[in-house]
Amino acid sequence: MSKLYLKKTQLTEMFTHCRETFPNEACGILAGKDEQVDKIYPTKNVSPTPYTRYLIDPQEQFKIFKEIEKENLEMLAIYHSHTHTHAYPSKTDCELANYPDVFYLIISLVNPKEPVVKSYSIVDGKIKEEEVEIND
Ligand SMILES: [Zn+2]
Repeated sequence: MSKLYLKKTQLTEMFTHCRETFPNEACGILAGKDEQVDKIYPTKNVSPTPYTRYLIDPQEQFKIFKEIEKENLEMLAIYHSHTHTHAYPSKTDCELANYPDVFYLIISLVNPKEPVVKSYSIVDGKIKEEEVEIND
């Protein structure tokens, strides 16, 4: 995999979503083309323990997949927040990583004033940090 390109405004939008969802984890899907994010789909976290885990509402996910297809885009990444831990995939994150071709973005709110975003690929439980470039 290569880099993921994000606009500053998109990053701000995700940070806002993560702050609004606090103390629960936020989650969502990023779609675009050629590694450039075009659309952000914030989703509901339907995990029974949303303060430590995330689970994208399957029905919502299905609808988003259809829309992405209709717009002729691709799912590029799945993002979620870590409210009290660093931006590194947890054991559960690895177990739930079903898409080897997308980036897993983790936004840490350990310091809520300065959220940290990191990008990973997770393939067969193996974690690799990937590049993310933020542009205007
Ligand atoms: Zn996580």
